[in-house]
Amino acid sequence: VKKEYAQKCKGSIASYERAKKVIPAGLEHNLGLLNPYPLTMKTAKNASIWDVDGNEYVDYLMGGGPIILGHKVKEVDDKVISFLENYGPSTGLTCESEILCAEEIAKHVPSVEMVRFLASGTESDLLAIRLARTFTGKTKIIKIMGSYHGWSDQMLLSPDRPGTGNGHTSGIPKECYMHTIEVMPNDFDGLQRIFNENKGDIAAVLAEPTGGHAGTFPNHPDWNKTLRKICNDNGAMLIFDEVVTGFRLGMGGGQEYYNTMPDITVMGKIITHGYPSCGAVGGRREIMSLCHPGGLNGKSAYTGGTLSANPISTTAGYHSLKCIEKYHAIDKASDYGDLLTAKLNELFATRGDLPFFAYNIRSIVHVETACPSGTFLVKDSRNVSDDEQKLRSKAAEDIYIALMNEGVLLLGDCKRMYTCMQHDETTMNKTLAAWEKV
Ligand code: PMP
Repeated sequence: VKKEYAQKCKGSIASYERAKKVIPAGLEHNLGLLNPYPLTMKTAKNASIWDVDGNEYVDYLMGGGPIILGHKVKEVDDKVISFLENYGPSTGLTCESEILCAEEIAKHVPSVEMVRFLASGTESDLLAIRLARTFTGKTKIIKIMGSYHGWSDQMLLSPDRPGTGNGHTSGIPKECYMHTIEVMPNDFDGLQRIFNENKGDIAAVLAEPTGGHAGTFPNHPDWNKTLRKICNDNGAMLIFDEVVTGFRLGMGGGQEYYNTMPDITVMGKIITHGYPSCGAVGGRREIMSLCHPGGLNGKSAYTGGTLSANPISTTAGYHSLKCIEKYHAIDKASDYGDLLTAKLNELFATRGDLPFFAYNIRSIVHVETACPSGTFLVKDSRNVSDDEQKLRSKAAEDIYIALMNEGVLLLGDCKRMYTCMQHDETTMNKTLAAWEKV
């Protein structure tokens, strides 16, 4: 599959040769393919993208999650352009767009009364943790293994392989993980044990409402409610990382979809619909007020960011959220997600020798595939040897490249597909034909 890819993507190869002289590994986005060459894109429209060689792809990467209206939304772009013509990109002062965007988020997300914008999801997770510690006066944070909460030092403990207990990267002193405690997904007893062993020290539980990596490690149906209850019982905050789920599972995000209210909500991605800079933290007034430089009752959680609440992002955000509501983008993308999942499972059922299956959480579609050893790729890595893990990674990568050769682009090699309101019958047929061939 790599040979075929290299044949089709000569322009991307040339671009990679140039990039790797000035950009480490020749790519800036980890979601891009590393081996053999990253794809260099040229243009995008609706649910498709084209690379520099003119190859067209049905896009399920969707910018890594921010896009749900489809690529290039004229209604939003026009507002941003007109803003730029009038004001320029950034003044460092308050601008109406940030008030409008904050009002819009607070209107829809049930647990959110106030919003503070930041420049990324990573920064937003950082602020949420700081707010929880400031509010509770406690220190430790419980994280669910296999969940991703950005790349800050304290949060990069085993985000990919639940059960390995390994730090993800070099360059982080182990002291940085000192106050991060991990629990396996859906381990109800383990969760209780951690609270018992750390009485009075847990500031917050931080969790993706879908389960780790947007549902790659799905939650037991009682898990979110259990998190809520155990936090209530122990005076800890529940933080939902809704960077992916915010304005994707519903206008009220994962908290509305799962009917579980967090104390603090972390947002990113769709709130600016692909425009930089993109991140926000929301919550109750009494918690969020701690971001105030003067603080509340002598406590203040410092928050910074030159480009936070950037008027371009908040203009794009406000108008995108309006469009998402007006065009019922979430329901349309979710209906396509349901249909795609059903059709993929129909297809997989015709090949009993391939134990593949698809499942979705609205517009987030996952395909779980087996590697050559017959074991599933990502579900549980607790007892997986390094050799088995290598085999799994290779199988995942081969499937990913083979699908790209057929004109279908997934998210990295993890076989996640984000759908948008522009996916239609044509993209469906192309996608199913590609999976069938692969
Ligand atoms: N949390 C979750 C659940 C995410 O999926 C991501 C990004 N994929 C982040 C946080 C970090 O966001 P950013 O890349 O904007 O820093």
